[in-house]
Amino acid sequence: MRKNIVAGNWKMNKNLNEGIALVKEINEKLENADIKNVEVIVGTPFIHLSEANKAAGSKIAVAAQNCADEAHGAYTGEISAEMVASTGSKYVILGHSERRSYYGETSEKLVKKVDLALTNGLTPIFCIGEVLEERESGKHFEVVKNQIAEGLFHLSAEDFSKVVLAYEPVWAIGTGVTASSEQAQEMHAFIRKTLAEKYGDAVANNTSILYGGSCKPSNAKELFANADVDGGLIGGASLKAEDFMGIITAF
Ligand code: PEP
Repeated sequence: MRKNIVAGNWKMNKNLNEGIALVKEINEKLENADIKNVEVIVGTPFIHLSEANKAAGSKIAVAAQNCADEAHGAYTGEISAEMVASTGSKYVILGHSERRSYYGETSEKLVKKVDLALTNGLTPIFCIGEVLEERESGKHFEVVKNQIAEGLFHLSAEDFSKVVLAYEPVWAIGTGVTASSEQAQEMHAFIRKTLAEKYGDAVANNTSILYGGSCKPSNAKELFANADVDGGLIGGASLKAEDFMGIITAF
């Protein structure tokens, strides 16, 4: 059965001390809560990964927010999937819309990153989602299907089953505008159908599909109640332990 997941994406926030303090605070709250059915992940900046893994305990997994599209070598400033894995991190967020739009992350690059992540034992949290213009012109299903096909459909069913998807409509990220529960379920069901057509029902039904975009304690319950929404990728609301816990406990 697929996992419920709540993953924080801190983006470029929190210095090292602040970040480790946040991991410890979340950990403490999780120790005192009875949460059995949710995988909790914190997606930290690269420089936090090693310390975050030490502070995380057994109730929190750590994710990087990116990795290089090459294995190693003369790529100044890059961080490889192998380096991320060596910190004890288990996940890597790939294809976030901010990376696609600000850093030229193409599907071609993402194929290489996904492959390197999997080779190094990392689970990719692969982000997809349309911009407002694409939704308004009715192209959102096509856009999302293409992003999945271009970035992931080269994988065997065995490798694909190690991937987590995050549907993040770009118009909802950091805007305070959340997709409605119906919009989220409609897209998640479409994504699962797309996966079933390619890999069959078993793989599709075992894939966790997270929703991301202005998810907060006040709307998480309604979003997560949908049959095809298996949790959330959380930006702003993952930066405060109390808000993040409010989302984790929404299941
Ligand atoms: C994100 O950037 O992945 C995200 C979902 O951000 P926010 O929750 O702040 O909209």
